[in-house]
Amino acid sequence: MSDTPITVPLLDLKPQYQALAAELDEAVARVVQSQYFILGPEVEGLEAEVAHYCGAEHAVGVSSGTDALIVAMMAMGIGPGDEVITTPYTFFGTVGSIVRIGAKPVFVDIEPDSFNIDVSKIEAAITDKTRAIAPVHLFGQMADMRAINRLAREHELLVIEDAAQAIGAKQNGRRACSFGHMGCLSFFPTKNLGCFGDGGMIVTDDADYAQIARQLRNHGMEPKYYHARVGGNFRLDALQAAVLRIKLPHLDSWHEARRENAALYRKLFKEAGLVRTHEQLGTGLEGGVVLPPETENNYHIYNQFVIYSDQRDALMQHMKANNVGCEIYYPLALHEQECFRLLGYFKGDFPNAERAAAHSLALPIYPDLSPDMIQRVVEVIASFN
Ligand SMILES: *Cc1c(COP(=O)(O)O)cnc(C)c1O
Repeated sequence: MSDTPITVPLLDLKPQYQALAAELDEAVARVVQSQYFILGPEVEGLEAEVAHYCGAEHAVGVSSGTDALIVAMMAMGIGPGDEVITTPYTFFGTVGSIVRIGAKPVFVDIEPDSFNIDVSKIEAAITDKTRAIAPVHLFGQMADMRAINRLAREHELLVIEDAAQAIGAKQNGRRACSFGHMGCLSFFPTKNLGCFGDGGMIVTDDADYAQIARQLRNHGMEPKYYHARVGGNFRLDALQAAVLRIKLPHLDSWHEARRENAALYRKLFKEAGLVRTHEQLGTGLEGGVVLPPETENNYHIYNQFVIYSDQRDALMQHMKANNVGCEIYYPLALHEQECFRLLGYFKGDFPNAERAAAHSLALPIYPDLSPDMIQRVVEVIASFN
Protein backbone atom coordinates (compact mmCIF):
# COMPACT_ATOMS: atom_id res chain seq x y z
CA MET A 1 0.00 0.00 0.00
CA SER A 2 1.25 3.40 -0.90
CA ASP A 3 -0.04 6.66 0.48
CA THR A 4 0.93 8.60 -2.63
CA PRO A 5 -2.28 10.13 -3.97
CA ILE A 6 -3.15 9.05 -7.47
CA THR A 7 -2.67 11.28 -10.46
CA VAL A 8 -5.76 11.93 -12.58
CA PRO A 9 -5.14 13.27 -16.07
CA LEU A 10 -7.82 15.31 -17.80
CA LEU A 11 -7.69 12.83 -20.67
CA ASP A 12 -5.67 9.70 -21.35
CA LEU A 13 -6.15 8.10 -24.75
CA LYS A 14 -3.70 5.27 -24.19
CA PRO A 15 -6.05 2.76 -22.46
CA GLN A 16 -8.51 3.03 -25.34
CA TYR A 17 -5.73 2.43 -27.85
CA GLN A 18 -4.30 -0.47 -25.86
CA ALA A 19 -7.68 -2.19 -25.67
CA LEU A 20 -8.02 -2.13 -29.46
CA ALA A 21 -4.35 -2.11 -30.44
CA ALA A 22 -4.34 -5.36 -32.39
CA GLU A 23 -7.33 -4.39 -34.53
CA LEU A 24 -6.20 -0.79 -34.99
CA ASP A 25 -2.69 -1.77 -35.98
CA GLU A 26 -4.09 -4.32 -38.42
CA ALA A 27 -6.39 -1.69 -39.96
CA VAL A 28 -3.52 0.76 -40.38
CA ALA A 29 -1.33 -1.97 -41.88
CA ARG A 30 -4.09 -2.88 -44.32
CA VAL A 31 -4.21 0.68 -45.65
CA VAL A 32 -0.42 0.93 -45.79
CA GLN A 33 -0.21 -2.34 -47.73
CA SER A 34 -2.88 -1.15 -50.17
CA GLN A 35 -1.00 2.15 -50.69
CA TYR A 36 -4.44 3.68 -51.28
CA PHE A 37 -4.40 6.75 -49.02
CA ILE A 38 -6.82 9.35 -50.34
CA LEU A 39 -10.60 8.75 -50.16
CA GLY A 40 -11.44 5.29 -51.56
CA PRO A 41 -13.22 2.28 -50.03
CA GLU A 42 -12.30 2.90 -46.36
CA VAL A 43 -13.70 6.43 -46.53
CA GLU A 44 -16.82 5.27 -48.37
CA GLY A 45 -17.34 2.50 -45.83
CA LEU A 46 -17.02 4.93 -42.93
CA GLU A 47 -19.39 7.41 -44.59
CA ALA A 48 -22.11 4.76 -44.87
CA GLU A 49 -21.56 3.65 -41.26
CA VAL A 50 -21.61 7.17 -39.79
CA ALA A 51 -24.69 8.16 -41.81
CA HIS A 52 -26.47 5.08 -40.49
CA TYR A 53 -25.26 5.74 -36.93
CA CYS A 54 -26.58 9.32 -37.02
CA GLY A 55 -29.88 8.30 -38.61
CA ALA A 56 -29.27 10.30 -41.79
CA GLU A 57 -29.08 9.48 -45.48
CA HIS A 58 -25.66 10.79 -46.48
CA ALA A 59 -22.25 11.47 -44.99
CA VAL A 60 -19.22 13.08 -46.58
CA GLY A 61 -15.79 12.60 -45.02
CA VAL A 62 -13.65 15.72 -44.77
CA SER A 63 -10.34 16.81 -43.32
CA SER A 64 -11.56 18.19 -39.96
CA GLY A 65 -14.59 19.42 -38.06
CA THR A 66 -13.70 22.97 -39.03
CA ASP A 67 -13.56 21.99 -42.71
CA ALA A 68 -16.89 20.19 -42.31
CA LEU A 69 -18.44 23.52 -41.26
CA ILE A 70 -16.76 25.38 -44.11
CA VAL A 71 -17.74 22.85 -46.78
CA ALA A 72 -21.30 22.53 -45.42
CA MET A 73 -21.87 26.27 -45.58
CA MET A 74 -20.22 26.49 -49.01
CA ALA A 75 -22.48 23.68 -50.26
CA MET A 76 -25.53 25.63 -49.06
CA GLY A 77 -24.33 28.73 -50.88
CA ILE A 78 -23.82 30.79 -47.74
CA GLY A 79 -21.31 33.59 -48.24
CA PRO A 80 -20.73 37.35 -48.37
CA GLY A 81 -23.77 39.40 -47.36
CA ASP A 82 -25.26 36.55 -45.34
CA GLU A 83 -25.65 36.40 -41.58
CA VAL A 84 -25.37 33.18 -39.58
CA ILE A 85 -26.74 33.10 -36.05
CA THR A 86 -24.63 31.18 -33.54
CA THR A 87 -23.27 31.26 -30.00
CA PRO A 88 -20.32 33.23 -28.62
CA TYR A 89 -19.47 30.37 -26.24
CA THR A 90 -18.05 27.61 -28.44
CA PHE A 91 -14.77 26.44 -29.89
CA PHE A 92 -13.32 29.05 -32.22
CA GLY A 93 -13.82 26.85 -35.32
CA THR A 94 -17.59 27.38 -35.36
CA VAL A 95 -17.27 31.11 -35.78
CA GLY A 96 -13.96 31.14 -37.65
CA SER A 97 -15.63 29.06 -40.38
CA ILE A 98 -18.48 31.52 -40.77
CA VAL A 99 -16.02 34.38 -41.16
CA ARG A 100 -13.79 32.44 -43.54
CA ILE A 101 -16.62 31.84 -46.03
CA GLY A 102 -17.26 35.60 -46.00
CA ALA A 103 -20.48 35.56 -43.97
CA LYS A 104 -21.14 37.45 -40.75
CA PRO A 105 -21.60 35.67 -37.42
CA VAL A 106 -24.44 37.08 -35.31
CA PHE A 107 -24.23 36.00 -31.68
CA VAL A 108 -27.05 34.98 -29.35
CA ASP A 109 -26.26 34.38 -25.68
CA ILE A 110 -26.28 30.94 -24.06
CA GLU A 111 -28.38 29.43 -21.27
CA PRO A 112 -26.22 29.20 -18.14
CA ASP A 113 -27.25 25.63 -17.33
CA SER A 114 -26.87 23.85 -20.64
CA PHE A 115 -24.16 26.17 -22.06
CA ASN A 116 -26.15 26.01 -25.34
CA ILE A 117 -27.72 28.81 -27.37
CA ASP A 118 -30.75 30.37 -25.66
CA VAL A 119 -33.46 29.72 -28.23
CA SER A 120 -35.76 32.31 -26.68
CA LYS A 121 -33.31 34.99 -27.84
CA ILE A 122 -32.83 33.84 -31.43
CA GLU A 123 -35.84 35.51 -33.01
CA ALA A 124 -34.68 38.98 -31.98
CA ALA A 125 -31.40 38.38 -33.83
CA ILE A 126 -33.02 37.48 -37.16
CA THR A 127 -32.72 40.14 -39.89
CA ASP A 128 -33.44 40.14 -43.61
CA LYS A 129 -29.84 39.03 -44.13
CA THR A 130 -30.05 35.96 -41.90
CA ARG A 131 -29.52 32.79 -43.94
CA ALA A 132 -28.84 30.18 -41.29
CA ILE A 133 -28.78 29.20 -37.65
CA ALA A 134 -25.74 27.24 -36.48
CA PRO A 135 -26.44 25.79 -33.03
CA VAL A 136 -23.55 24.08 -31.25
CA HIS A 137 -24.24 20.98 -29.16
CA LEU A 138 -21.69 22.05 -26.59
CA PHE A 139 -19.90 19.51 -24.38
CA GLY A 140 -22.05 16.68 -25.79
CA GLN A 141 -25.59 17.87 -25.04
CA MET A 142 -27.87 19.04 -27.81
CA ALA A 143 -29.32 22.51 -28.20
CA ASP A 144 -33.13 22.66 -28.37
CA MET A 145 -33.52 21.50 -31.96
CA ARG A 146 -37.29 21.44 -32.00
CA ALA A 147 -37.45 25.16 -31.22
CA ILE A 148 -34.60 25.95 -33.61
CA ASN A 149 -36.20 24.04 -36.48
CA ARG A 150 -39.52 25.74 -35.83
CA LEU A 151 -37.90 29.17 -36.06
CA ALA A 152 -35.98 28.10 -39.15
CA ARG A 153 -39.17 26.98 -40.89
CA GLU A 154 -41.02 30.20 -39.98
CA HIS A 155 -38.21 32.40 -41.27
CA GLU A 156 -37.03 30.12 -44.11
CA LEU A 157 -33.57 29.65 -42.67
CA LEU A 158 -31.04 26.87 -43.04
CA VAL A 159 -29.84 24.93 -39.98
CA ILE A 160 -26.28 23.68 -39.57
CA GLU A 161 -25.66 21.59 -36.46
CA ASP A 162 -22.16 21.90 -35.05
CA ALA A 163 -22.06 18.42 -33.56
CA ALA A 164 -18.27 18.30 -33.28
CA GLN A 165 -18.63 17.47 -29.57
CA ALA A 166 -21.85 15.52 -29.87
CA ILE A 167 -21.68 12.51 -32.17
CA GLY A 168 -24.32 10.12 -30.85
CA ALA A 169 -26.02 12.61 -28.53
CA LYS A 170 -29.80 12.27 -28.73
CA GLN A 171 -32.86 14.45 -28.29
CA ASN A 172 -36.24 12.76 -28.05
CA GLY A 173 -34.52 9.60 -29.23
CA ARG A 174 -33.04 11.11 -32.40
CA ARG A 175 -29.34 11.60 -32.85
CA ALA A 176 -27.43 14.82 -33.45
CA CYS A 177 -26.98 15.62 -37.17
CA SER A 178 -30.42 14.25 -38.04
CA PHE A 179 -32.26 17.51 -37.22
CA GLY A 180 -30.65 20.26 -39.28
CA HIS A 181 -30.13 20.57 -43.03
CA MET A 182 -26.54 19.59 -42.43
CA GLY A 183 -24.60 18.39 -39.41
CA CYS A 184 -20.87 18.60 -38.83
CA LEU A 185 -18.69 16.16 -36.91
CA SER A 186 -15.07 16.28 -35.79
CA PHE A 187 -12.81 13.28 -35.23
CA PHE A 188 -10.14 15.30 -33.43
CA PRO A 189 -8.54 12.90 -30.93
CA THR A 190 -10.22 14.46 -27.86
CA LYS A 191 -13.76 14.04 -29.21
CA ASN A 192 -15.81 11.01 -28.20
CA LEU A 193 -14.90 9.39 -31.53
CA GLY A 194 -11.34 10.43 -32.32
CA CYS A 195 -8.96 9.38 -35.07
CA PHE A 196 -5.14 9.39 -35.22
CA GLY A 197 -4.92 12.99 -36.41
CA ASP A 198 -7.46 15.34 -37.93
CA GLY A 199 -10.72 14.29 -39.54
CA GLY A 200 -14.34 15.32 -39.85
CA MET A 201 -17.63 14.54 -41.54
CA ILE A 202 -20.72 16.24 -42.92
CA VAL A 203 -24.03 14.46 -42.39
CA THR A 204 -27.24 15.31 -44.25
CA ASP A 205 -30.52 13.92 -45.58
CA ASP A 206 -30.30 16.17 -48.62
CA ALA A 207 -28.86 14.37 -51.66
CA ASP A 208 -28.04 17.62 -53.49
CA TYR A 209 -26.12 19.14 -50.59
CA ALA A 210 -24.27 15.85 -50.12
CA GLN A 211 -23.27 15.73 -53.76
CA ILE A 212 -22.09 19.35 -53.79
CA ALA A 213 -20.13 18.79 -50.56
CA ARG A 214 -18.53 15.69 -52.11
CA GLN A 215 -17.39 17.80 -55.08
CA LEU A 216 -16.23 20.73 -52.97
CA ARG A 217 -14.01 18.61 -50.72
CA ASN A 218 -12.06 17.61 -53.81
CA HIS A 219 -11.52 20.94 -55.61
CA GLY A 220 -15.04 20.94 -57.04
CA MET A 221 -13.82 18.27 -59.43
CA GLU A 222 -16.24 16.00 -61.29
CA PRO A 223 -15.33 14.25 -63.52
CA LYS A 224 -11.57 14.25 -63.06
CA TYR A 225 -9.96 17.58 -64.02
CA TYR A 226 -13.30 19.24 -64.80
CA HIS A 227 -14.32 21.83 -62.21
CA ALA A 228 -17.85 23.17 -61.98
CA ARG A 229 -17.12 24.93 -58.68
CA VAL A 230 -14.11 26.15 -56.76
CA GLY A 231 -13.67 23.80 -53.84
CA GLY A 232 -10.50 22.84 -52.02
CA ASN A 233 -8.57 19.96 -50.60
CA PHE A 234 -10.86 19.01 -47.74
CA ARG A 235 -10.45 15.23 -48.05
CA LEU A 236 -10.45 12.59 -45.32
CA ASP A 237 -7.54 10.12 -45.34
CA ALA A 238 -8.09 6.39 -45.79
CA LEU A 239 -5.87 5.80 -42.73
CA GLN A 240 -8.12 7.90 -40.51
CA ALA A 241 -11.23 6.24 -41.92
CA ALA A 242 -9.81 2.77 -41.25
CA VAL A 243 -9.06 3.71 -37.63
CA LEU A 244 -12.53 5.21 -37.15
CA ARG A 245 -14.22 2.10 -38.56
CA ILE A 246 -12.57 0.01 -35.84
CA LYS A 247 -13.62 2.47 -33.13
CA LEU A 248 -17.20 3.27 -34.20
CA PRO A 249 -18.75 -0.04 -32.99
CA HIS A 250 -17.46 0.79 -29.47
CA LEU A 251 -18.69 4.38 -29.40
CA ASP A 252 -21.99 3.73 -27.63
CA SER A 253 -20.26 1.81 -24.84
CA TRP A 254 -17.79 4.71 -24.42
CA HIS A 255 -20.72 7.15 -24.17
CA GLU A 256 -22.24 4.92 -21.49
CA ALA A 257 -18.97 4.85 -19.54
CA ARG A 258 -18.80 8.66 -19.64
CA ARG A 259 -22.40 8.85 -18.44
CA GLU A 260 -21.62 6.49 -15.57
CA ASN A 261 -18.67 8.70 -14.63
CA ALA A 262 -20.95 11.73 -14.66
CA ALA A 263 -23.46 9.93 -12.44
CA LEU A 264 -20.69 9.02 -9.98
CA TYR A 265 -19.54 12.66 -9.86
CA ARG A 266 -23.11 13.72 -9.05
CA LYS A 267 -23.39 11.17 -6.27
CA LEU A 268 -20.00 12.00 -4.71
CA PHE A 269 -20.39 15.79 -4.95
CA LYS A 270 -23.78 15.47 -3.31
CA GLU A 271 -22.47 13.25 -0.52
CA ALA A 272 -19.67 15.78 0.08
CA GLY A 273 -22.22 18.59 0.38
CA LEU A 274 -20.62 20.52 -2.45
CA VAL A 275 -23.53 20.95 -4.87
CA ARG A 276 -24.72 24.54 -5.36
CA THR A 277 -27.21 26.29 -7.60
CA HIS A 278 -26.27 29.24 -9.78
CA GLU A 279 -28.10 31.52 -7.33
CA GLN A 280 -25.98 30.21 -4.44
CA LEU A 281 -22.64 30.94 -6.09
CA GLY A 282 -21.08 34.06 -4.64
CA THR A 283 -23.15 33.96 -1.45
CA GLY A 284 -20.45 32.71 0.90
CA LEU A 285 -20.85 28.97 0.32
CA GLU A 286 -17.22 28.74 -0.75
CA GLY A 287 -15.88 25.62 -2.33
CA GLY A 288 -19.17 24.45 -3.78
CA VAL A 289 -19.74 23.86 -7.47
CA VAL A 290 -22.65 23.95 -9.91
CA LEU A 291 -22.97 20.67 -11.79
CA PRO A 292 -24.00 20.42 -15.47
CA PRO A 293 -27.66 19.33 -15.68
CA GLU A 294 -29.01 16.89 -18.22
CA THR A 295 -31.81 18.85 -19.82
CA GLU A 296 -35.15 17.23 -20.59
CA ASN A 297 -35.33 14.70 -23.40
CA ASN A 298 -31.58 14.78 -23.93
CA TYR A 299 -29.06 11.96 -23.98
CA HIS A 300 -25.85 13.76 -23.01
CA ILE A 301 -22.64 12.08 -24.22
CA TYR A 302 -20.33 14.13 -21.93
CA ASN A 303 -17.54 15.07 -24.27
CA GLN A 304 -16.82 17.34 -21.31
CA PHE A 305 -18.15 17.47 -17.75
CA VAL A 306 -18.12 21.18 -16.98
CA ILE A 307 -18.81 22.70 -13.57
CA TYR A 308 -19.07 26.29 -12.37
CA SER A 309 -17.01 27.56 -9.45
CA ASP A 310 -16.89 30.95 -7.77
CA GLN A 311 -13.14 30.78 -7.43
CA ARG A 312 -12.45 28.93 -10.64
CA ASP A 313 -8.86 30.05 -11.21
CA ALA A 314 -7.76 29.29 -7.64
CA LEU A 315 -9.56 25.94 -7.75
CA MET A 316 -7.80 25.11 -10.99
CA GLN A 317 -4.40 25.83 -9.41
CA HIS A 318 -5.31 23.73 -6.40
CA MET A 319 -6.27 20.82 -8.64
CA LYS A 320 -3.13 21.07 -10.72
CA ALA A 321 -1.01 21.23 -7.55
CA ASN A 322 -2.68 17.95 -6.53
CA ASN A 323 -2.08 16.26 -9.89
CA VAL A 324 -5.70 16.38 -10.99
CA GLY A 325 -6.21 17.53 -14.56
CA CYS A 326 -8.76 20.17 -15.51
CA GLU A 327 -9.17 22.73 -18.28
CA ILE A 328 -11.07 25.89 -19.13
CA TYR A 329 -13.35 25.61 -22.16
CA TYR A 330 -13.26 28.52 -23.01
CA PRO A 331 -11.54 31.35 -21.15
CA LEU A 332 -12.67 34.20 -23.42
CA ALA A 333 -16.05 34.34 -25.18
CA LEU A 334 -15.78 34.82 -28.93
CA HIS A 335 -17.41 38.25 -29.08
CA GLU A 336 -14.48 39.49 -26.97
CA GLN A 337 -11.75 37.98 -29.17
CA GLU A 338 -9.38 40.42 -30.79
CA CYS A 339 -9.86 38.96 -34.28
CA PHE A 340 -13.63 39.58 -34.12
CA ARG A 341 -13.40 43.17 -32.92
CA LEU A 342 -14.74 44.37 -36.26
CA LEU A 343 -18.05 42.64 -35.52
CA GLY A 344 -18.67 45.49 -33.09
CA TYR A 345 -19.55 43.61 -29.92
CA PHE A 346 -18.57 44.68 -26.41
CA LYS A 347 -17.95 43.15 -23.02
CA GLY A 348 -21.34 42.87 -21.35
CA ASP A 349 -23.22 42.00 -24.54
CA PHE A 350 -23.56 38.30 -23.66
CA PRO A 351 -23.50 38.02 -19.86
CA ASN A 352 -24.14 34.27 -19.67
CA ALA A 353 -21.31 33.49 -22.08
CA GLU A 354 -18.99 35.81 -20.19
CA ARG A 355 -19.95 34.26 -16.88
CA ALA A 356 -19.31 30.76 -18.25
CA ALA A 357 -15.91 31.90 -19.56
CA ALA A 358 -15.05 33.26 -16.11
CA HIS A 359 -16.36 30.40 -13.96
CA SER A 360 -16.52 27.12 -15.89
CA LEU A 361 -14.06 24.28 -15.42
CA ALA A 362 -13.93 20.90 -17.18
CA LEU A 363 -13.15 17.84 -15.03
CA PRO A 364 -11.78 14.49 -16.24
CA ILE A 365 -14.63 12.40 -17.72
CA TYR A 366 -13.03 10.06 -20.28
CA PRO A 367 -14.38 6.47 -20.40
CA ASP A 368 -11.34 4.76 -18.87
CA LEU A 369 -11.38 6.73 -15.60
CA SER A 370 -11.67 4.42 -12.60
CA PRO A 371 -14.07 5.09 -9.70
CA ASP A 372 -10.96 5.73 -7.55
CA MET A 373 -9.86 8.47 -9.88
CA ILE A 374 -13.28 10.13 -9.81
CA GLN A 375 -13.29 9.87 -6.03
CA ARG A 376 -9.88 11.54 -5.98
CA VAL A 377 -11.12 14.44 -8.14
CA VAL A 378 -14.00 15.09 -5.74
CA GLU A 379 -11.73 14.72 -2.72
CA VAL A 380 -9.31 17.30 -4.09
CA ILE A 381 -12.14 19.74 -4.83
CA ALA A 382 -13.54 19.12 -1.33
CA SER A 383 -10.15 19.99 0.17
CA PHE A 384 -10.11 23.39 -1.57
CA ASN A 385 -10.37 26.38 0.80
C1 LIG B 1 -13.58 20.48 -32.15
C2 LIG B 1 -14.61 21.43 -32.57
C3 LIG B 1 -14.67 21.98 -33.87
C4 LIG B 1 -13.59 21.81 -34.86
O1 LIG B 1 -13.19 20.53 -35.11
P1 LIG B 1 -11.71 20.26 -35.67
O2 LIG B 1 -11.79 18.83 -36.11
O3 LIG B 1 -10.77 20.45 -34.53
O4 LIG B 1 -11.44 21.18 -36.78
C5 LIG B 1 -15.74 22.79 -34.19
N1 LIG B 1 -16.69 23.09 -33.32
C6 LIG B 1 -16.67 22.60 -32.06
C7 LIG B 1 -17.78 22.93 -31.13
C8 LIG B 1 -15.62 21.78 -31.64
O5 LIG B 1 -15.60 21.32 -30.40
